Amino acid sequence: MKTFTQIQEALAKLPRVQLGFYPTPLYYLTNLSTQLGVDIYLKREDMSGFSPFGGNKIRKLEYLLGDALQKGADTVITFGATQSNHAMQTATACRKYGLAAHLFLHRVIQEEKELRANLLIDHILGANVHYSNSREESIWQAEITAAQLEKDGHHCYIIPGGGSNAVGATGFVDSFAELSRQIPTSQASEYLFHATGSGGTLAGLLAGKELLASAIQIISIAVGQKDTSYSEKILALTRETTARLGFSTTFTASDLHVDHNFYQPGYEEPNEAATAAIHLLAQTEGILLDPVYTGKAFAGMLHYIRSGIVPQKSRVIFLHTGGTLALFAEKNITGKI
Ligand SMILES: *Cc1c(COP(=O)(O)O)cnc(C)c1O
Repeated sequence: MKTFTQIQEALAKLPRVQLGFYPTPLYYLTNLSTQLGVDIYLKREDMSGFSPFGGNKIRKLEYLLGDALQKGADTVITFGATQSNHAMQTATACRKYGLAAHLFLHRVIQEEKELRANLLIDHILGANVHYSNSREESIWQAEITAAQLEKDGHHCYIIPGGGSNAVGATGFVDSFAELSRQIPTSQASEYLFHATGSGGTLAGLLAGKELLASAIQIISIAVGQKDTSYSEKILALTRETTARLGFSTTFTASDLHVDHNFYQPGYEEPNEAATAAIHLLAQTEGILLDPVYTGKAFAGMLHYIRSGIVPQKSRVIFLHTGGTLALFAEKNITGKI
C-alpha cells in the first residue's frame, strides 16, 4: 500500500502540461438520493478543463502532451469516431501548447451533412481532420500522413484512440487519489460507477484503488461491444501504468467488474434506458448526461440500485466523464431526446 503523498511524489516526476483545474467538484445529489434511498455523489470530471467541452480525456492529455513535448514533437496524431470526444479534446489541448493536431476519424453511424457537436468544434479549432470508413483504414491513413510529415521535418507523436495507454491512464491514478481525499470516510459500503470505452480511465482508477488499498467497488459499464480480451487488456494496462509510477502490484481478473448489459444496440447507438437516465438526472438535479457514455453508465447504476444489488443506504459515486456535446449530434446518436 502507498500513501497519498507517495503517489503524488511519483506523479510529480512525470512530464505533464496543465489543462485542467483540480480538484474537480464532488458533491451530493440531494433530490436523487432521497428518491433512490442511497447516497449518490457526482464527481464532475466533465468540468475538468479550460474548455466547457472538457471531460475525462483532459487528465490523460496532461500526461500525453507532457510526454509529447518532452520528446520534441510538434504534431499530434490521434484516432476516434467522427463524434469522438477524445479527438476534440486533443485538438483543444494541442492549440494551447502550439502543437498541430491530425485527427483520423472513422464513421460509426450514418452522419448528417451539416457539421455538428464535436466535429463542428474540431473544425472551429482548425484541426486537420481525415475521414475514413473503419479503424483499420484510419491507421493506414495515419501511417502515410506521419511518414510524409516526418519527411517534411516534423516530429509526430501518436496518441491511441481514447488516449488509453499507460501515459494517459496515469491521469486517472491522479483522479482516484484526488477522489479518495474528497469523500468523507464512512462505514457504509461504497461503489464507484463509470462508463468504460477504450479502458484508460478504468486502468488508472484501478491502479489508484490498489495502490491506496481502497475498499471501494468500481463498477464499469461498457459502452460498446468488447471481445473476450478486454479484461486482459485492462489488466495489462493497469500493471503498466503502475510500473510507470515505479510501483508494482498484482491485479487479477477478480479486481475487475465490467458490465456489458447496458450498451445495446451498440456504440453511439441510443437506447431507452440511457434516454430515461438522461431525463431523470436532468429533471431531478438539473445536470446533463450524454447518450453515448454517461447516459448508459448512469442507466446501469440505476439498475444496480433499483434491483438491490447495491443495497439501500450505500454510498454511490458516479464519475461524470463528460461528453454532453453529443446531445447536439446527429439524431442517430441522441435518439428520441
Ligand atoms: C472516452 C469517454 C469515456 C470512456 O473513457 P475510456 O478511458 O475511453 O474508457 C467515458 N465517458 C466519456 C464522455 C468519454 O468521452
